[in-house]
Amino acid sequence: MHAPLTVDPRVKYKRIILKLSGELLRGEKSGDPIDAEALERTCKQVKEIHDLGVQICVVIGGGNIFRGLSAAAQGIDRATADYMGMLATVMNALGMQAALERIGVACRVQSAIPMASVCEPYIRRVAIRHMEKGRVVIFGAGTGNPFFTTDTAAALRAAEMGCDALLKGTQVDGVYSADPKKHPTAERFESLSYHEVLARDLQVMDASAISLSRENGIPILVFSIHDKGALAAVMRGEGRATIIGGKG
Ligand code: UDP
Repeated sequence: MHAPLTVDPRVKYKRIILKLSGELLRGEKSGDPIDAEALERTCKQVKEIHDLGVQICVVIGGGNIFRGLSAAAQGIDRATADYMGMLATVMNALGMQAALERIGVACRVQSAIPMASVCEPYIRRVAIRHMEKGRVVIFGAGTGNPFFTTDTAAALRAAEMGCDALLKGTQVDGVYSADPKKHPTAERFESLSYHEVLARDLQVMDASAISLSRENGIPILVFSIHDKGALAAVMRGEGRATIIGGKG
């Protein structure tokens, strides 16, 4: 395994954070929460942009295994349920690490909740060094705090890591005025300001993630993780994505 030595000149963003929801790792056929095929498909997209020389860190969610809010609704206290959710994200991070290494991409997992025998603890400067050396860094356990989400963790880490963009891989190719799967006439946006996302309550990322990105001037690119090659195209400034930010 080796770090790419050169950055493809077409690359628009040199260091990015990729936010993936846990559901992406669920098997379409098997229904398993962490499915080998889904892992491989997702990690191949990461490898494609790694091969372009992009510095990459990833925040993975845990919704395929455990969601704090739903568990809280069933009687587990919210903070405990959220800690369980954070542990779920570490499982996904370890699964991704294994899948990335299998296809030749060096990778480290850092957890916001220290667990020394499982992975590295989150240390900002170490994470930056890993990326400079061409390793993908996967951040597990979200922010390490209950009552937050992995969207907010992605916006936070994006700012800490000095990322040029936050890429949010979703089920569809951008931000729509309503869920396009349920409302075929929903409007698709090419670009939006942070303010528009908040004011129109567009369900793309939670409000704290949008605010944090706005404060730090980090653009959010929303694209479909299911379209093969979409991530690499977005990195070259091509392809289909909604860009949030830049308009205030
Ligand atoms: N979580 C948390 N603090 C964080 C990040 C996540 O408490 O900083 C918990 C929360 O319970 C959440 C769960 O971890 O429901 C899984 O994360 P999320 O729902 O963001 O995952 P995704 O929907 O992206 O798969």
